[in-house]
Amino acid sequence: MDFPRGQTFFGPDFAREESFTCDAVVIGSGAGGAAVAWQLSQAGLSVAIVEEGRKYEPHQLSTKQSWALRHIYAERGTSLATGNLYLPLPRGKAVGGSTLLNSAICFRTPAPVLADWQRDFGVDWADAAALAPVFAEVEQAIGVAKTQPFQARAHNLVFKQGVDALGLQGDFISRNAPGCVGCGLCQLGCPVGGKGSVDRNLVPYALEKGAALFTSTRATRILVENGTAVGLEAHAVDPLSEVRLRKLTFKSRLVFLCAGAIGSPMLLLNQGLSLESGQVGKNLHVHTAQGVAARFEQVVDAWQGPTQGYYVPLDGERAVLETFSATPDIFAIQYDAYSKPMSQLRHLAACGCMIADVSTGEVKPGKSETRSAVTYRLEPKDQAVILKGMREITRIYFAAGALEVHPGFHGASTFRSLADYDAFVAKGLTLDQMSVYASHPMSSCRMSADRTKGVVKPTGESHSVKNLYLADASVFPTALGVNPQITVMTTAVMIARQALRG
Ligand SMILES: Cc1cc2nc3c(=O)[nH]c(=O)nc-3n(C[C@H](O)[C@H](O)[C@H](O)COP(=O)(O)OP(=O)(O)OC[C@H]3O[C@@H](n4cnc5c(N)ncnc54)[C@H](O)[C@@H]3O)c2cc1C
Repeated sequence: MDFPRGQTFFGPDFAREESFTCDAVVIGSGAGGAAVAWQLSQAGLSVAIVEEGRKYEPHQLSTKQSWALRHIYAERGTSLATGNLYLPLPRGKAVGGSTLLNSAICFRTPAPVLADWQRDFGVDWADAAALAPVFAEVEQAIGVAKTQPFQARAHNLVFKQGVDALGLQGDFISRNAPGCVGCGLCQLGCPVGGKGSVDRNLVPYALEKGAALFTSTRATRILVENGTAVGLEAHAVDPLSEVRLRKLTFKSRLVFLCAGAIGSPMLLLNQGLSLESGQVGKNLHVHTAQGVAARFEQVVDAWQGPTQGYYVPLDGERAVLETFSATPDIFAIQYDAYSKPMSQLRHLAACGCMIADVSTGEVKPGKSETRSAVTYRLEPKDQAVILKGMREITRIYFAAGALEVHPGFHGASTFRSLADYDAFVAKGLTLDQMSVYASHPMSSCRMSADRTKGVVKPTGESHSVKNLYLADASVFPTALGVNPQITVMTTAVMIARQALRG
């Protein structure tokens, strides 16, 4: 590479157009891009990581929601899918990508999901036993450990109490948060550096091996000659106005597109690249979820302790029930029945049901280079699984002694018993009455051995552009039913290793 290795460059600092040469350029520094850069640089390749967002040290992060939305969330936190409902769809834009602001939940890909990938999409390496050492390597690199009971605090423990009372099989959640102090601010970026988001491990590991990181630098066009990727045209961007500044060109033998399940299809569609399968942007899954809050006699202070510390698989479904917390301002908006006086919020605990959605959506570029236009239709089958999960959470909270639950349905405030919940739902709920949320976009450039079914091969290489690899959540053939970051990193490691073998 013809510039100092191991360094971080702030794109807007370049006073004029520049051109660089390296072995591989990696677009995006989130879960997928960081894992690819880690692998390639360990193998001795010169790697340039191009990231649209900025690099933040823990002390530079503010604990304010408004600051976080403006600085570390893509589209300033306003990304939304529309279709037969409005679905908030947040994602990160910073070094570390969405891992900077995630809850640090770590699950391995469920074996039945991998079996589906192998059987239906020809992903030959998708085997739970064969992947076990790779999962372990990733988990070790990002510091995964199970939440301990003494760390869990009241909002997780009160849910566990209900789970135990009903004899269900729950467990504490494993998280990559080795230095967690339980401040409840994960989704604003960890202000004490206690979370093992990839900006604190895989990206620095890559830099130690000589990779270079270009921040506030947006990939704008993948360079292709005779059907082979040969580099990237990028632009330094102003971090706040997002306008393009100087052009930076990277000539490279390999190009890895890891801009996430919204960013990767947007770049391909904007450029009209690798579209032959007709699948770019399609088949989007999001792990649709909805929360239930419960009010207890005792003080819970849900914002203390790991944000998401305990879970139960939903019986008979590819879905999980996971405790969650948020800052009091978020609870006050979502569960407004308890916001006057706000002291009532101290008595709330909350848990969400997150499903492996069979419903699909589509990603298209929006009105500007940084805006997405995402559509999604929630199918009745998925709505039924969410409602089943919410009922189970309600049952668990009443078993734990809740005074009432608040499901967040429009047109219903609080329920005093499971029978109240059943009676309300039996009347029929429109989609508009739901308060669904999703933060796991995936599958929008899925991999498949069949070039008519997938954008990339099981190796991650585009079916139509040689040496162009995709390695992020966009390549998942299906939804998972568990939080995806470990699957993203493991998939990216497998793709990088296959690319290294050539
Ligand atoms: C609020 C929230 C909470 C979550 N909680 C969890 C959790 O607890 N556990 C879990 O497993 N998962 C969680 N997730 C999901 C998980 O973080 C993501 O699935 C994972 O990070 C996706 O990895 P990725 O590489 O596909 O994309 P990302 O991690 O989103 O990274 C994509 C990167 O590409 C950059 N980029 C995009 N376009 C361009 C461009 N044109 N040029 C340059 N750079 C570009 C973006 O700025 C971003 O940094 C959460 C997500 C959110 C939003």
